[in-house]
Amino acid sequence: MIKAKNLNKIFYTPEPLHALSDVSLDVAAGEVVVVIGPSGSGKSTFLRCLNRLEYADEGEVWIEGRNILDPACDINKVRAEVGMVFQSFNLFPHMSVLENLTMAQMTVRGRNRSDSESKAMGLLKKVGISDKHGVYPDQLSGGQQQRVAIARALAMDPKVMLFDEPTSALDPEMVGEVLDVMKTLAREGMTMVVVTHEMGFAREVADRVVFMDMGKIIEEGTPEHFFTSPRHERARNFLNQIL
Ligand code: ADP
Ligand code: MG
Repeated sequence: MIKAKNLNKIFYTPEPLHALSDVSLDVAAGEVVVVIGPSGSGKSTFLRCLNRLEYADEGEVWIEGRNILDPACDINKVRAEVGMVFQSFNLFPHMSVLENLTMAQMTVRGRNRSDSESKAMGLLKKVGISDKHGVYPDQLSGGQQQRVAIARALAMDPKVMLFDEPTSALDPEMVGEVLDVMKTLAREGMTMVVVTHEMGFAREVADRVVFMDMGKIIEEGTPEHFFTSPRHERARNFLNQIL
């Protein structure tokens, strides 16, 4: 479903900062890959390269056999098929919850209003907040806003969902409700790449854990392998700090 090959990304800050060095990752359909690593290790940059929010300097990104770095590739279609959920929700503040979920369905997917609204209502039910369709984002808790953001991404019928620390900005009591929605998606067979510090989620849901440090993937394996016998010392140190 996803094939990233030798991705390199340098930011000029103005000194060159090698945010990604030869990062390669294949993700099969239905697989859940959890990416962990210290702050600044390149996790967000990597995710952003997978839907071209960031343009890799070198390398290839294939989504379902389509090379998204090819300038001929319609990036709006790619973004519809690769849903992304951010730490900071990013809902449109001036639109109701329902409008947040219908707009891109109409403009990008070309659906009519009534089909878009019924799809939206179904998804709001799925994430457990159908009663909130008429309110504005600032009237919702952080956990509710994040569930709306997930529903909004799902409204595009994505083939892949990328999550960048989706629970890091939430009060602790709201983390569970968002992780529960993600667990349901994983169980239903969604292909997911999840950057998170929630190690319980990684252990329970990940098919594979990838550890990044200084712009590189330095360890990759099953949760069982990663949490019990990581080969790399930097991975062991990281686990000792957060567990
Ligand atoms: P992580 O998500 O693992 O914390 P990031 O991918 O956000 O790491 O960042 C990797 C490195 O690239 C960091 O050193 C960060 O400061 C730098 N970086 C990220 N985005 C930019 C940008 N737009 N401009 C300059 N430097 C950036
Ligand atoms: Mg990040």
